[in-house]
Amino acid sequence: MTNAATEHLTDPRADRPSGRPTVVLVYQRTSLPWVFESARRAGIDLVLVPRPDEDVDADRLPPGVVDVLRLDVDHAPAEALAALVARHRSDPFDGIVTLYDPAVPFVADVADALGLPGLGGDVARAVQDKRLMRRALADAGLNVPGFAAVDDPGALDEAARLEFPVVVKPANGFSSLGVTKADTAEELAAVVAEVWQVCASKLSRVTGLVVEEYLDGPELAVESLAHGGRVQVLSIGYKGEPVGPYFEEGVYRAPAPLPPHVQDAVVREVVAAHAALGVTEGPTHTELRLRGGERPYLLELGARVGGSGVSHYIAHHVTGTDLAAQALRIAAGLAPTLPETAEQPAPATGAAANYIVPCGGSGRIVALHGLEEVAKDPRVDHLVQMLHPGDVVRPYPDFTGYPAFVLSHHPSTADAEEFHRYLAEHIRIDYAPEGDAK
Ligand code: ADP
Repeated sequence: MTNAATEHLTDPRADRPSGRPTVVLVYQRTSLPWVFESARRAGIDLVLVPRPDEDVDADRLPPGVVDVLRLDVDHAPAEALAALVARHRSDPFDGIVTLYDPAVPFVADVADALGLPGLGGDVARAVQDKRLMRRALADAGLNVPGFAAVDDPGALDEAARLEFPVVVKPANGFSSLGVTKADTAEELAAVVAEVWQVCASKLSRVTGLVVEEYLDGPELAVESLAHGGRVQVLSIGYKGEPVGPYFEEGVYRAPAPLPPHVQDAVVREVVAAHAALGVTEGPTHTELRLRGGERPYLLELGARVGGSGVSHYIAHHVTGTDLAAQALRIAAGLAPTLPETAEQPAPATGAAANYIVPCGGSGRIVALHGLEEVAKDPRVDHLVQMLHPGDVVRPYPDFTGYPAFVLSHHPSTADAEEFHRYLAEHIRIDYAPEGDAK
């Protein structure tokens, strides 16, 4: 699919012994393999900056990885930046990328400092800050729910004037952390206090909250690739219809069966959001809700391959496009090797799905039932287990993480839906009270 050999001839920086472009990959878990496999397919070498809590065995590096560089991007970004500048001086690389949302601004800053391809630090921050994001979309005339920024949990006058129910969330959150619905103005102060407290304990910085009107309707996830300001929508998937009060992630099934006029509206909204936010380069993962089943309202646009690579799995199966390989090419300053088509997604070649095993309770995990059988199912390509017996799951709104992902391929989205019903019946987690010994 990629034509790396031809590109190398025209790439003035490809003067290293391997002849391959090198990209620094920040904070990718090695248990989520897609981006590594894509790097190998694309002929791109990776320098992995592992997550601080992950051991990476130098003798068993993931595919594509030629070196490991330990940096504390979360707690010592200035030192991490300096280390990368020094590394670039002694051993230049062609690009830097992350699939981990909180590291997106850091990666953009490094690219800016080294003159490498990137989003630009300002754009990266504006995309991540839900206050700036909402303002930019509203200024561009896109669909935006009524919203209010809350910088002080005691000052809620503007938020209390919104139409209820509302959703309260951290301005700089991710993974639905702390996102909570408040049904009435009377509940608002307590919900704001709770979200503020959860964020203070879980995020390295709380920059404030956003309160916005609740959008009903199905939720969609859209995978796109931007290059030179042109946005190509690869796939549109269905993400369930969560009603709150907490918004645990659930299913992802693509392609979403949408009437053509709704699909057109989604593509228009997503493409326009890229322009409004200034996102001109790289992969994006956009989430929207279809208010009244018809009208797309953006929830967020992540300027990265979504779901730590799950978005790549979905897009690859649904469209044949090697999304992560294309993302790495763009990061390395190489043009994507996509057929020139319209902004619209190409017809799907199959269906793909992710089932996020719900916590379904709280306490110390004693057993996870059904996973072994599911792993053997021929429709399942990956079973990624994040929580294990002995781990403690705290009740919402405290976010512990998801027990497991089940990634599967199917002939149609309807088959994927049926499979998800089967999984809902067959996977079960048993808990003991948190204090109990293992
Ligand atoms: P995060 O970046 O933490 O994932 P989001 O803004 O994407 O935060 O919100 C997480 C989830 O909460 C969404 O996927 C959606 O299900 C729900 N949600 C957030 N905002 C709204 C809203 N205004 N109306 C309805 N649901 C919402």
